[in-house]
Amino acid sequence: MKMQDLVLKTLGKKADSDAPLRIVQAGHPALRATSAPLAGQLSDDVLETLINAMVVTMHEAPGVGVAAPQIGVPLRLVVMEDAVGPDDSHEEDPYNRTDLPLMAVANPRYEPVPSDSATTFGWEGCLSVDGWRSLVPRPRSVRVLGTAFDADGTTRDLDEVWSGWKARIFQHEADHLDGILCHDRSVPRSFVHENYQGYYTDLSEAVHYLGVEGEVSQLEPGQVDLER
Ligand code: ZN
Repeated sequence: MKMQDLVLKTLGKKADSDAPLRIVQAGHPALRATSAPLAGQLSDDVLETLINAMVVTMHEAPGVGVAAPQIGVPLRLVVMEDAVGPDDSHEEDPYNRTDLPLMAVANPRYEPVPSDSATTFGWEGCLSVDGWRSLVPRPRSVRVLGTAFDADGTTRDLDEVWSGWKARIFQHEADHLDGILCHDRSVPRSFVHENYQGYYTDLSEAVHYLGVEGEVSQLEPGQVDLER
């Protein structure tokens, strides 16, 4: 099936234009496929409709990102948004959350930043592994690349260094396009159902309860960064 036909078929399953798309769960082959680059397979109208549908799906979930494979479309396209209020962003925030305005990115990829090779451990969940979390080590900073579609309709080449939580979101979503789930990268023994997440907000206590070994178990209370 041609990509545009597949996208139209996926969009056609919605009850109405404001309805979210179904998010497929781990085990669906689309989540393990290597997605095709977005390279003119879709008309502008269909691309815009697809992005809008992915944004509705992300908001409805709710989540901070959705990748096209999660709605069963093997295309290198993601949407992201993490609205952080001025009061939410402060120095004690171990995850270093900063505002990530709503955007779609086609053909996203990321590269290491040689000047910041620190690894950060953080709890991640995935809308395609509903209800579960695990501790995932990630580079604290990455160079992010791709074609960005901003909420105001602007299209631009993306080439920026992102750090902290939004760098983690970008890596998580871009990984989906190579068939990688965040839990594939997680620290062994750190798989936790969200009902128990409250026990594990302090990583030093979490690794004790879970019997986690390795670099992450060397962290001080409250610390989530680990310099390599
Ligand atoms: Zn995910």
